[in-house]
Amino acid sequence: MFPMASVADLRPCPHCGGQVKYEADPQLLWVCGTCGGPVIPGFRASSGPIIEALSGAKRAKSSTFSRRFGSVALAIAFWPMAASAAFLLMVYLPAGILAGTTAIATLIGSFMTWKSGVTKIAETKRLTEEAWLLYLSEAVRNSDRAISAEKVAEAAQISVVRAGEMLESLVRRGDLDLNITHEGRLTYSGEAAGVRVARNVVDEAAELEEPAGEEAKARVVKQ
Ligand SMILES: [Zn+2]
Repeated sequence: MFPMASVADLRPCPHCGGQVKYEADPQLLWVCGTCGGPVIPGFRASSGPIIEALSGAKRAKSSTFSRRFGSVALAIAFWPMAASAAFLLMVYLPAGILAGTTAIATLIGSFMTWKSGVTKIAETKRLTEEAWLLYLSEAVRNSDRAISAEKVAEAAQISVVRAGEMLESLVRRGDLDLNITHEGRLTYSGEAAGVRVARNVVDEAAELEEPAGEEAKARVVKQ
């Protein structure tokens, strides 16, 4: 069964450890109502690659805020520096040039800090998406039947569009299979990790046997 998520109750947060309310977020789907870290309703494990991706996303999100704050502080500091540089340029040129250079360096610093904050926003989204992909892949593969994007959306408490997009990327990267039912509906399925490993071993064994078979046939032809 695909795990059904409930966001109405208080739930454990993997970041701050509290019993919290999950809140919908336009970028990160769901976040902890207390610390703002990205969370996945219905996901229960406390360690593993999904938690690692969520924690990385939380770290990136926190540093986005500190960089934005730093950038704004530097931008605010620029204006009095620019004003005093303008004044000094009129009264004593070398001091004016020095003050002007410092003011410009502050403005460049503000821009660079803002830019690195933008990179961190992208990293937050990428790691959150990765956590969701790992979660959906695992949940669909552990499900006892093929499942539609609508069902996944309902169970995971996300929009059908977002569920469909993530399921399609899982199909593209070979984690899930796309099926079409007799009624023309799209469903997604996949083998549970254990079965997958077993099948890979069988496939590899078959590949190893094949050339030997060809050789044997060739020998028969020669004779
Ligand atoms: Zn939290």
